[in-house]
Amino acid sequence: MSDAHVKIMCPSLVCRKVLSVPAIARGQTVRCKACGTVIRIPEKAVPREPAAPPPKGKERAA
Ligand SMILES: [Zn+2]
Repeated sequence: MSDAHVKIMCPSLVCRKVLSVPAIARGQTVRCKACGTVIRIPEKAVPREPAAPPPKGKERAA
């Protein structure tokens, strides 16, 4: 698995440090080592595709 770590950016506008946290910490919170801001790690990575599948099946003749 190439998803052993999750990279998350500190939400603090004055910090913005990119933290690398273990994927098992998803759904939990970590503290930024730089500024101490508590960051919640999303359980899933940002989806690249919309949830709804593209329409398939019938083809329309123009
Ligand atoms: Zn920070």
